[in-house]
Amino acid sequence: MGQILRGETGDWEMVIGLEIHAQAITNSKLFSGAATEFGAAPNQQVSLVDAAMPGMLPVLNEKSVEQAVRTGLGLNSKINLYSVFERKNYFYPDLPQGYQISQFLHPIVGEGEIEIDLPNGEVKVIGITRLHLEQDAGKSIHDQHPTKSYVDLNRSGNTLMEIVSEPDLSDGIEVGAYINKMRMILRYLGTCDGNMDEGSMRADVNVSVRKVGDKELGTRCEIKNVNSIKAAQAAIDYEARRQIELLEDGKEVDQETRLWDPVLNETRSMRSKEDAHDYRYFPDPDLLPCVIEQSFVDDIKKTLPELPDEKKHRFMDSYGLGAYDASVLISTRVRADYFETVANDRDPKLAANWVINELLGILNKDGKSIEESPISSDNLGKLVGLISDDTISGRIAKDVFAEMYETGKDPEVIVEEKGLKQVTDTGAIETLIDQVIADNMDKVEQYRSGKDKLFGFFVGQVMKVSQGKANPQMVNELLKQKLS
Ligand code: ADP
Ligand code: MG
Repeated sequence: MGQILRGETGDWEMVIGLEIHAQAITNSKLFSGAATEFGAAPNQQVSLVDAAMPGMLPVLNEKSVEQAVRTGLGLNSKINLYSVFERKNYFYPDLPQGYQISQFLHPIVGEGEIEIDLPNGEVKVIGITRLHLEQDAGKSIHDQHPTKSYVDLNRSGNTLMEIVSEPDLSDGIEVGAYINKMRMILRYLGTCDGNMDEGSMRADVNVSVRKVGDKELGTRCEIKNVNSIKAAQAAIDYEARRQIELLEDGKEVDQETRLWDPVLNETRSMRSKEDAHDYRYFPDPDLLPCVIEQSFVDDIKKTLPELPDEKKHRFMDSYGLGAYDASVLISTRVRADYFETVANDRDPKLAANWVINELLGILNKDGKSIEESPISSDNLGKLVGLISDDTISGRIAKDVFAEMYETGKDPEVIVEEKGLKQVTDTGAIETLIDQVIADNMDKVEQYRSGKDKLFGFFVGQVMKVSQGKANPQMVNELLKQKLS
């Protein structure tokens, strides 16, 4: 059950479906040989096809098809061996062809599903309606000249995979989890870099509301220009409230496309929603239907990596981790590999604790990713080993960790150089205890006459004179004997 919104006339729920545009990782464009790299100077990556010069013919990029199939398999979806490219006709200055080549009635990927992980530990299954291939448009730039707009066609013709979800999402939290999981899957697969701030992954959010208990769907609005999870959540909350107010006033929601304004924190009407017939879709006469062999699909299937959900379940089963810790550790492949090196033949829970709480904690504070960690996974593994075999105490390990983070040094070298090995020699610890007792006879009297709380004081003093190196458990035991 998603979030419930209280209105004047009763309780409302939200119904949300997402269209995610993911730019496929390919060296060249969907139908031309021009480069696709991000950040080039304007109009430097434009072939005659992308500029829609008369007589130019599109040639399908096999890599784009491969990436779509790979993504479809990662989304547990049906792969269609027969798909058709159609022209979606509309006029816009950054669309020189006057149409976008897209797929409509016969997309390359059909129905599927993915799991999303909610913060309360629940798992929800979200249906995927389809994934189709289409050309990206160019970009109009309005802020370079007071009266003119410029057009940059570098993006024109890039491969987009449009991934459409079923209206299975019920609030902003679920939408955040969905976008996160989608991005994770795409990155694991290597089919899209998932960078929302560079626009290589964008979401259109469809929102409607209905009274709790109603079965029929309300009229939806589509919100564009949503380029972060936070923006999606803010847009949904605003839009649902707006629709509830309209309906409670006895008005209707118009099916329209709205724009999210991140400065004013509101959605604005952009245009009334086109229906499919407004686009006058028809099969592109320059392109044959896209027919692929089952063996092509099977070969791609063989190269799929272990995907996020599989990895999460394996971490829970074979390392005994909880769902939350496992989901933190698998969020990128590099992070998961790092953890597995640390945990190799060691206590996995201790390893998870050091990676999540200590390492990710400090990296996060410094705004660094695990790729930039000054501590290698081998060295953090060694540190966990030193704690497990009682060479150093957990307390000393924190100091060693701090030095490793500073210098990148091997923990065994640090422990050796600084003489930090834990004292586990009974005789040596007894000598320290005798010294502490001799220095604090008054407190010993008090303790013996019933002030039990003082025990902690003695432990602290012994640890202090040992410079933190005495084995705390032995200190406890020996102190009890000596003080009784
Ligand atoms: P269009 O291209 O017209 O936007 P799509 O089929 O590409 O149509 O996408 C429609 C999206 O809207 C899907 O994600 C679908 O789940 C969602 N959707 C459909 N009906 C509703 C509704 N009543 N409320 C919320 N979302 C909806
Ligand atoms: Mg749409």
